[in-house]
Amino acid sequence: MGADEKSMIIIGAGFAGLATGIYARLNGYKTEIYEMHNLPGGLCTSWKRNGYTFDACIHWLVGSSPESNYNSIWQETGVAQGREFFYADEYCRAEGADGRTVIFHADIDRLEKQLLELAPQDKEPVMDFIRGIKMCSAFDFPSDREPLFTRIRKQIGTFLTFMRYGGEFRRWTNITGEQFASRFNDPLLRQAFREIWIPEFSMVFLLFTFAYLAKRNAGYPIGGSKPMSEALEKRYRDLGGVIHYNKRVARILTDEGRATGIRLVDGTEVSAARVVSAADGHATLFEMLDGKFLDAGIIEQYDSWPVFHSLLFVSLGINRKFDDVPKSVSGLSFPLKEPVMIADKLRDRLPVHIYNQDPTMAPEGKTAVTVMLESDYSYWKQLAEDRSVYVQKKEETAWQIIRLLEQRFPGIAGQVEVTDVATPLTFERYTGNWKGSFEGWLITPKNAYTMMKPMSQTVPGLKNFYMCGQWVEPGGGLPTSIMSARRLMKKICGEDGIRFSVNH
Ligand SMILES: Cc1cc2nc3c(=O)[nH]c(=O)nc-3n(C[C@H](O)[C@H](O)[C@H](O)COP(=O)(O)OP(=O)(O)OC[C@H]3O[C@@H](n4cnc5c(N)ncnc54)[C@H](O)[C@@H]3O)c2cc1C
Repeated sequence: MGADEKSMIIIGAGFAGLATGIYARLNGYKTEIYEMHNLPGGLCTSWKRNGYTFDACIHWLVGSSPESNYNSIWQETGVAQGREFFYADEYCRAEGADGRTVIFHADIDRLEKQLLELAPQDKEPVMDFIRGIKMCSAFDFPSDREPLFTRIRKQIGTFLTFMRYGGEFRRWTNITGEQFASRFNDPLLRQAFREIWIPEFSMVFLLFTFAYLAKRNAGYPIGGSKPMSEALEKRYRDLGGVIHYNKRVARILTDEGRATGIRLVDGTEVSAARVVSAADGHATLFEMLDGKFLDAGIIEQYDSWPVFHSLLFVSLGINRKFDDVPKSVSGLSFPLKEPVMIADKLRDRLPVHIYNQDPTMAPEGKTAVTVMLESDYSYWKQLAEDRSVYVQKKEETAWQIIRLLEQRFPGIAGQVEVTDVATPLTFERYTGNWKGSFEGWLITPKNAYTMMKPMSQTVPGLKNFYMCGQWVEPGGGLPTSIMSARRLMKKICGEDGIRFSVNH
């Protein structure tokens, strides 16, 4: 592309890479994105099989409400325009073996009422949870995207909210999902809280999720993930950005402590004044940069921070409707008649998401259904040493899950038209994410400080090189990837003495 001073190579066309391209183009940079896959979106994707669409990403999009200050990032990047959102009354439900069901309502009052009715003896943790959601609802963070006076008003408001809730906020940050669940005496509630959130993940994020759901600011976009990725790509191209698909970057080229370009796996070299990696963090640092630009902090992070676990993701096309199943953000779970090994883990419950909230995901009268289970990367990696064993295990697992679904939805086995199984290796193959992780770093009590002090987007000893996306933004997620790109481009504009702009 020629290394003039405003040239920039971006590695990866996921949300972070595309957004970097958009904000860079809006500020006059000459950009080229190199993406190893043949599609935009990275993890934010879906695929079609015989008329069904199986979605591997979006459950809720924070900032869907036009009143939210996050909404402007979706406007700026072209995702919000023309998009219709669905707001479910419930986040999910957990059915018990004793006939009771815990419904995690989006409405806070209904949620409180239902949890207290189910387990009056657990009033103390229930009310703590409800107060925590209300605390998070009180935060209205300022953003530089708002007019000055609104920003100042919100800055003062946020300061006062922190003064009031600072201690509580820290307490919730330091409690993991597992620790909170253990406070319940009622076994069904304990189980429900255990499975609703990742055990090591800080509870404060669950509280924020419920606060956003209650404010109808975390909607599900009709059409799912892929149309959003395509909208980002269109915005980028409309601004004159260039994307090269099926181009995997092997190396980031450096010379005397400066990034100078990239080398693709086919040997082609391209130079630019700046290189941004919006691809997997581990591959960027340890492969593309050969482990040469690290410090003790980065090493410790990759040695010890937990990542979002990898997934076994089974999708089914079912020739029936499920009008009796309430529409929800993330589905329901039910107890199995007896514990059973599914792939590498013994499971006594099965989660299932009936996609009846989005009619575009299946032909008329039919339904897309997904089952998302935690499953170890190493288990599948080992199986894949013999391709036929791996393929056979995938097939067996799909039918095992269908038979288990019979326990909750009798007759379903006879209505299956399509099966599709993605393993941690599938996620790795299509997106390059380390250990097949689906959202990067978990926020745990140990690294919660990153919420206040963001991670660095540069690496020690290397100029003109930057990182953005979920591997430098613990907690991950789509809004975070966009904000990561925005933060980065503000920094780069600052380096060049350019006033950052979001207007074309
Ligand atoms: C099952 C699931 C559910 C989710 N649910 C939600 C949700 O409800 N709400 C939400 O906000 N988020 C959700 N997420 C998380 C969200 O999808 C991710 O956090 C986000 O998409 C990460 O974007 P990214 O651009 O940082 O990374 P990625 O999407 O991983 O993009 C990285 C890109 O870099 C490319 N790449 C990698 N290596 C190379 C290379 N060497 N050369 C060239 N290109 C390369 C990849 O192909 C990819 O396109 C979910 C994710 C999954 C999988």
